[in-house]
Amino acid sequence: MSVIAANLQAVKNDIAAAAQQAGRAASDVTLLAVSKTVSASRVREAFDAGQHAFGENYVQEGIEKIAALNDLRSRIQWHFIGPLQSNKTRAVAGHFDWVHAIDRLKIAERLSEQRPAGMAPLQVCIQVNISGEASKSGVAPEEVPALAHAMAALPNLQLRGLMAIPAPASDPIAQRQPFAALRALLDQLRQSGLKVDTLSMGMSTDMGAAIAEGATLVRIGTAIFGARS
Ligand SMILES: *Cc1c(COP(=O)(O)O)cnc(C)c1O
Repeated sequence: MSVIAANLQAVKNDIAAAAQQAGRAASDVTLLAVSKTVSASRVREAFDAGQHAFGENYVQEGIEKIAALNDLRSRIQWHFIGPLQSNKTRAVAGHFDWVHAIDRLKIAERLSEQRPAGMAPLQVCIQVNISGEASKSGVAPEEVPALAHAMAALPNLQLRGLMAIPAPASDPIAQRQPFAALRALLDQLRQSGLKVDTLSMGMSTDMGAAIAEGATLVRIGTAIFGARS
């Protein structure tokens, strides 16, 4: 078995164990393989090992990889998980299936306008600054309901839920607190009538805590592809 295939299997085992401990089904947690800085040939290796959802952070790099793996396009889901500037929305709207880190209505409006006719609606999440860090991107929690309702009205987007990258914490109890807050915010959106189902939270070092608090999608890079240079 290749290193990537073995790592993927180990991550899936960890997801299953965390889900079981939380009384959840492992199939309720989607594994997104974060392939930023990883070559197209290594992404293909992960695909061959059964992984079909990949996350990219940089527009140009992502588009080049999508082109290099065009033969697999109908069988791969491509997620854009990086920060997105207005001048890059057209490229993202034309190539990706999901966008995770929307933090302004203007970006959502551009993505909806620029989504090519004939492509499925772009699946989107709002990035929330859940730890309240001054330096971090993401919307303040109190601004999420208004943004979510405005985005849900855009024709070529489907609002799926919320995404966060909490401040690092090493203790599992401390790790869980911001994930619990994100989950409460998603519940609030549901109670206000929005059909949202996605909590994009948890990376290589805090995946267990995220799954314990209800993550439906974990974004894992290092544990699958190794340390990035
Ligand atoms: C890089 C990245 C990840 C993956 O991080 P790892 O620690 O390598 O698992 C997840 N989410 C986002 C938004 C990232 O930029």
